[in-house]
Amino acid sequence: MLEDKNPQRTPLSELGEFRLIEHLTEQITLSHKSTIKGVGDDAAVLNFKSSRIVVTTDLLVEGIHFDLSYMPLKHLGYKAVMVNLSDCYAMNAMATQITVSIAVSNRFPVEALEELYGGINTACKLYNIDLVGGDTTSSTSGLIISVTAIGEVKEGNEVFRSGANPNDLLVVSGDIGGAYMGLQVLEREKEVFKVNPNSQPDLSMYSYIIERQLKPEARKDIVELLEKLEVIPTSMIDISDGLSSEIIHICKQSKVGVDLYENKIPLDPQVISTCEEFDIDSTTVALNGGEDYELLMTISQKDYPKIKGNPNLTVIGYMTEKETGMHLITRAEQRIPIIAKGWNSLSD
Ligand SMILES: [Mg+2]
Repeated sequence: MLEDKNPQRTPLSELGEFRLIEHLTEQITLSHKSTIKGVGDDAAVLNFKSSRIVVTTDLLVEGIHFDLSYMPLKHLGYKAVMVNLSDCYAMNAMATQITVSIAVSNRFPVEALEELYGGINTACKLYNIDLVGGDTTSSTSGLIISVTAIGEVKEGNEVFRSGANPNDLLVVSGDIGGAYMGLQVLEREKEVFKVNPNSQPDLSMYSYIIERQLKPEARKDIVELLEKLEVIPTSMIDISDGLSSEIIHICKQSKVGVDLYENKIPLDPQVISTCEEFDIDSTTVALNGGEDYELLMTISQKDYPKIKGNPNLTVIGYMTEKETGMHLITRAEQRIPIIAKGWNSLSD
């Protein structure tokens, strides 16, 4: 379907580990002052002076987190970087460096890894990230990618999940549910393709949601926007597992409750129309989907005038006393308890 038809296949054994790393990292340029030494020594050396440092890591395993039958390697490399940057931004920090480690079976030729690193390098360029290290090893079966991201934030500006207070506004960036519906479309086309390998699906009417699944963007721009607006959220988290489980994380760690308004949840028209086509409730998708990598935050009421009317930020509810509990207020004004149904790779 989206398979790379590149005919050239250079076996990994032709290069060997050291030349492979050299080959895959030769494009790298370093742009941060905090990077003293990048790839090419026993360890990278970084100097952050007086900033607070955030460190986050993610492991992506073929067959568990991604499916190469519809995920092009270039997109996979890009997404592997995005999921880590997103966690840095969720701390209100700017990501600055990453390390990338991969385990790969010999069914992948050198050209496949060039594709993967092409996506990684594109992400680094666009988000101003220095790739400063990593490791490459062999795997007996699939592909495994581990990315570690490092970021910095001025002391006092770091934002945790635990800082929300009753009466704070619950705010989300962008729109949600797209990545999950994009996955539904791709899964359906994969089944069609199995039956008829010559099918050429027209996916143009799903372009936005497929892009949300295959090529998500971490919201660096939102962290920059908040700084410009002079707003420091009281708590923040990125939406990797769906709105409901992220809300529960904030409520539990901040010891507060929440009233979330169904009619305020921002949905793209393509999410709404695809939900209708698949006969799935769009609110369920927003609550339990995942992988949107938007930022969910709580903001003090006094900061409301600063964010009011901003097209990137939507108020979807407000925090309450813990005893009030966590509720979704439906369009019919019913109060429904919010429960976690976030996607969990361990239970799949
Ligand atoms: Mg996260």
